[in-house]
Amino acid sequence: MNAIVVGALGSIDDAVLAAIAGGLERAFHLPVRSMPPLQEPSFAYDAQRGQYSSVLVLRHLLEHVPESTIRLLGVTDRDLFIPMLSFVLGQAQLNGPGAVISLARLRQEFYGFPPDADVLRLRAVKEAVHEIGHTFGLTHCSDSTCPMSLSNTVRHVDAKGPELCSSCTSLFEERKPPLPTMNNRPRAAG
Ligand SMILES: [Zn+2]
Ligand SMILES: [Zn+2]
Repeated sequence: MNAIVVGALGSIDDAVLAAIAGGLERAFHLPVRSMPPLQEPSFAYDAQRGQYSSVLVLRHLLEHVPESTIRLLGVTDRDLFIPMLSFVLGQAQLNGPGAVISLARLRQEFYGFPPDADVLRLRAVKEAVHEIGHTFGLTHCSDSTCPMSLSNTVRHVDAKGPELCSSCTSLFEERKPPLPTMNNRPRAAG
């Protein structure tokens, strides 16, 4: 069955992956399944920055698209960057086919607090919906409670909810059909 596919890069807690899958299903009303984990993205490590190149991780991900994939979301625990920014919580290709999110800065322990699995799962869901929303052509939303609103910090992430606002929902519904799988379309460059 055609589905949004969620894939870990390296070892990611099953409970987090399950929460992400559930959140994507609720937001987009599409089937979601997982794929076997890919390797840790050590190939994307930038020693000077001590972070991982989001562009390289996304490129790697798109070389491993399973059959019947509508959209592919990679999940990593590594801290991601793009050259212009000190970090990114995630990156997506506007209008697909793929996106990646980083859990590194969604963890309470990153800020010196005790770990909180519930907080991590909720933040991960919102960021997953945000990035997959971009792959469906949704841009940033002015409603600060909508997961499509821009979040540069976890404070922003915490302020928004996991479900698309009515305006993003109708934009998505307009674009939804026929949703060809990624396998039948030309590979995106870069
Ligand atoms: Zn965004
Ligand atoms: Zn919205």
